[in-house]
Amino acid sequence: MEKLSALVSDFDDTLFFNRPALISAAKDLYEKLLKGKEEDYKILNDLEITIGEGKVPKGFDKKWKNELYTSAYVKYRDKLLPNLPFINYLKESVKQGNELIILSARGEEFREQTEEMLNKYGLNYSSVILPANHELKDEEWKMLEVKKLSETYNHIVLFEDKEENIHHIINNLKSENVEFYLVDHSILTYITH
Ligand SMILES: [Mg+2]
Repeated sequence: MEKLSALVSDFDDTLFFNRPALISAAKDLYEKLLKGKEEDYKILNDLEITIGEGKVPKGFDKKWKNELYTSAYVKYRDKLLPNLPFINYLKESVKQGNELIILSARGEEFREQTEEMLNKYGLNYSSVILPANHELKDEEWKMLEVKKLSETYNHIVLFEDKEENIHHIINNLKSENVEFYLVDHSILTYITH
């Protein structure tokens, strides 16, 4: 049987913007820690950054990371905003016969909420790949998964919002059959080797 080509897309901040959900989750956690008279000022400072910028800074305490993401992805999942131009672009590509695979480091524990959003917006995916645990760094895990996919499919087009993830994959993956696009709202930028 002839091998197929696949469109592989990241989820958070590529298909759905999670900034408002993360901010609400960070505010909850910040208040909880203040009430508990938290004396670790690093975590409070990092939460202030998340509340201000909607981003989780590098080195964010692992002890609280899971609680923050669980709150954002479960409790505040209705606050995820769809990247409609890109969603429509993928839906059109699927109609034309391309296979769509979702590749997200958010974790197996959020499969239900992830698939719920994809279905809500009519994205006809063939599979959702999530890590079973968070032992590897996100970009490392992603690179290994793209490598597996590149051995199964003739041609892959990867969509991702983090340029550093794309460069990590390009630099470590020696596959000629993967193309990379940086997604910023409706703008897709081709990233070369
Ligand atoms: Mg992302």
